[in-house]
Amino acid sequence: MNESSVAHFLRHKDFIAPSARYRRAGAALASINLRATPAARAAVDNHDALTGLPNLAYLGGIFRSLMRRARRSHRAFALISLDLDEFRSVCEAYGSDEGDEAIKSVASILRAELDPQAIVVRAGGSKFIVVMPGLASATAAIGPVRQVLDALAKPRNVGGQDLRLTASAGMAIFPIDGCDYETLLRNSNAAMHESNSRGHGGLQCYSGNAALDAKRRLRLRMDLCRAVENRELTLHYQPQFEVHGGRVCGIEVLARWFRANGDVVEPRVFIPLAEQTGLIGALGAWVLEHACETAAWWHVPGELPPTLCVNVSTHQIDANMCAVIRRAVEGARFPAERLELEITEGSLMRNPQAVLECLGQWKELGVRIAIDDFGTGYSSLSYLSRLPVDRLKLDRSLIHNLTTTRKDAAIVRSIIALGKDLGVSVIAEGVETEEQFRMLRDLGCLQVQGYLFARPAPPQDVQGLLMRRWGMRDAEAPGQCRT
Ligand code: C2E
Ligand code: MG
Ligand code: MG
Repeated sequence: MNESSVAHFLRHKDFIAPSARYRRAGAALASINLRATPAARAAVDNHDALTGLPNLAYLGGIFRSLMRRARRSHRAFALISLDLDEFRSVCEAYGSDEGDEAIKSVASILRAELDPQAIVVRAGGSKFIVVMPGLASATAAIGPVRQVLDALAKPRNVGGQDLRLTASAGMAIFPIDGCDYETLLRNSNAAMHESNSRGHGGLQCYSGNAALDAKRRLRLRMDLCRAVENRELTLHYQPQFEVHGGRVCGIEVLARWFRANGDVVEPRVFIPLAEQTGLIGALGAWVLEHACETAAWWHVPGELPPTLCVNVSTHQIDANMCAVIRRAVEGARFPAERLELEITEGSLMRNPQAVLECLGQWKELGVRIAIDDFGTGYSSLSYLSRLPVDRLKLDRSLIHNLTTTRKDAAIVRSIIALGKDLGVSVIAEGVETEEQFRMLRDLGCLQVQGYLFARPAPPQDVQGLLMRRWGMRDAEAPGQCRT
């Protein structure tokens, strides 16, 4: 235990006015040989050896006094459960030493970012509990927690590796969401799982429905297993257009899950679920094979078939993927050079060296590579120049604010210039208005995709989509040929 963690440990004791037993233990930790006294041993039992943070036993021990103090001061406190989203992948990719380094770095970010009064506890694995006391309202902790999540999501060097680790958090408030330790812990955990299932890096406040949601999620998970096995998923296709001339230059494949009860589950819900349950490998392989088989039948008189763009999850960036790609293109007799695999900018930063190697192998098979959601994921320019990338897909959020936010317009302009300098094409996704389209055209963007031109559509509409060319009458007026 280093000096700062001892100081941190002691600071908690000062705030919560804990029992004499803990005060003595803290003092013992700070000043004497840890093995020397029972008090010191008690302190050791109450802290986590790796990070020096207090552990759950400690939190359980002080919880009553924490609640007493909150009642006396008429102030609420928040109990936040927080877990790293991809910790297992880090350990698998780099080994447990790097995993330990990652945990230590999270502990120091939590300590640095949070108010000194906050209690930070390591709850085992990659999980932490934070208690934020002295709240004037139930929502007062939301801002600080979001700040912490943003700080955690920034790329950083851990044990010599550039990593970007996000965490999902769930929050329960004393006394609104529970009046005892077990209930608050259970509810903040349920909220955390809810947050994780909605995507990475977010915060979810506990709602009475969270327990229900936990049950629903479990059911959804089981249904997804069945859906993947029984091929209940289907694929929709959204065309991409050339700004000048309106030719369809690509078609993006988007997975859809239509459940037997008529519900539609969005990919932003079932893709993370598939990633968490290990189903993503089977799901991703099916998407690729099925899309290649469909696309092999597309026919555009007098033109080369458009590029088939398939989304690939971070979890598919591994040694196994080459065989999956080969099987899909060879099985369908689809030309590999017309296949583009989209990986998100965020996934590039998770394990840069391994990603670089995998993408190199994919390129050897002849496929193209695009970086999806570009402009939001903090990839460094030097890293980008080393990647074998063919296309950058400007993130939808940048396009959404393009005509209203000068900063976003500046970012879009820079990315278009960057693409030109690197010899990489740039496509804008999520184009919804003619104003956005005109501005993109004026900024020199050459390819677009979005509801303004065509929404994702079922396979039977694909041939029609391919024949559609907004520029038949006027290349610069996409609105005339909207679907
Ligand atoms: P993405 O790859 O960035 O796909 C674009 C998303 O934006 C799609 O949402 C599309 O329907 C939507 N979109 C397209 N044009 C517009 C527009 O003008 N306005 C708005 N508001 N939205 C537009 P969708 O289909 O819900 O997919 C969401 C995400 O789920 C995708 O984002 C992709 O990351 C993931 N996804 C979808 N299918 C697959 C798949 O087969 N495998 C994997 N790994 N991920 C997938
Ligand atoms: Mg995409
Ligand atoms: Mg995207």
